[in-house]
Order: sequence, then C-alpha cells, then structure tokens
Amino acid sequence: MVSRRLEGRVVIATHNAGKLKEMRELLAPFGVEAISAGELDLPEPDETGITFAENAFIKAHSAATLSGLPAFADDSGLCVEALNGDPGLYSARWAGPTKDFYAAMSKIESNLQEKGAVTPEQRRAWFVSALSVVWPDGHRLEVEGRVDGTLVWPPRGPAGFGYDPMFLPEGHSRTFGEMTPEEKHGLPPRGLGLSHRARAFLALVDLCLAV
Ligand code: IMP
Repeated sequence: MVSRRLEGRVVIATHNAGKLKEMRELLAPFGVEAISAGELDLPEPDETGITFAENAFIKAHSAATLSGLPAFADDSGLCVEALNGDPGLYSARWAGPTKDFYAAMSKIESNLQEKGAVTPEQRRAWFVSALSVVWPDGHRLEVEGRVDGTLVWPPRGPAGFGYDPMFLPEGHSRTFGEMTPEEKHGLPPRGLGLSHRARAFLALVDLCLAV
C-alpha cells in the first residue's frame, strides 16, 4: 500500500452517532476537518461485502465518489468464539430496527447459556474494526484492528455504545461500558490505544496522517 497524506476536509462515512463521535475524537489531533455522510445527506450504500474490510471499502468508496472528497469509513463488529464468530458482520442488525442493544446482548447471553458457556475461556470474544480511506481518484488505504476479551453478564457500565457494557477487554477489570472514552480509545502517549478502532487507527496514522 502506498501512503498518502490525508488532509483538509474529509467525509466520515457513517450514520452511527457513537462511531462518528469516536472517529472525530481520533481525527481531531491531526487537524483533519471531519464532516459526516449524514451532514452531507449522502445515501447509505448496501453493505454487501462478506468481510469487515469489504464493507468499509464499499462505504468509503461510495462517500468519496458522491462527495468529491476523501472519505474515511469503518466497519466493525463483535465476534463471539462459541457462536462461530456471530454476530460478526451482523452486529448492528442483531439490535433490530430500534437499535436495542440490551436485546442484542441478551440474545448473545441466551445463546451462550444454551451452549453452557460459563467460564471466561468459553466466553471469549473480540471486536474488529476495518478502516478504509478512499480518495476521489480511487487511491485507497486499508487497515484492521482487533481487541480480545471475554463477555460478562449482566452488562456493566453506562459508557460507550453497542456491546460495550458486556465486553471485558483482556488484562482489564472494567468493561468498555465502565471506561471513559479516553481509556477505551485514547491514543498513546495519553491513552493505551486499547479499542479495536484505536488499534486500526494507529496503523492508519503511519499510512496517511503522519506522513
Ligand atoms: P457497522 O460497523 O456500522 O456495521 O456496525 C457495527 C456494530 O458493531 C455497531 O452497531 C455496534 O453494535 C458494534 N460495535 C462496533 N464497534 C463497537 C464498539 O466499540 N463498542 C460496542 N459495540 C461496537
């Protein structure tokens, strides 16, 4: 992959408010002006890929083509080992049209109970974030980040979004739902670069933000 500096106005190709907030916080120190696909009224493309990376590319490519600006997209999800990687690509869909993540977490929990998964080893899971940057001339950069952990029940903590209250990252005693935004996705030297999105982002910094 050939690095290229990302600067000026950039479209963040997401309609998810939680992800938008995290991406803005990650991009802010690099002096990039982030506008969301929602603010530009861009349509959401169908996510027809069969990997996180393919879906991130579809979203970034569509936003770059329609806006004429470089676009930045993430596709992410929670994979549960005992459930053969589910909900995976369908992490958002498991919450249904009302985006009820308590219901989605309950569904994971009842599936784990059915499998008799009670120990931390049996309840292993990981978050994945694939990031894609596409320029209007078709140039593209892609990276992936992952964070491993276990799933707790009941969910703990009011912070974050989605499956955060159920996810206990490896080596920590608090769930993502109990961590501050800085603890969850703050970058070194201030933060740990802990979350999947922070890890993918660190890889991207080398390719297009610090060049
Ligand atoms: P998509 O990337 O927009 O397809 O949606 C990914 C879904 O995965 C989100 O709606 C969340 O449910 C879940 N997810 C992704 N990243 C996180 C995270 O950092 N915390 C909690 N849930 C997440």
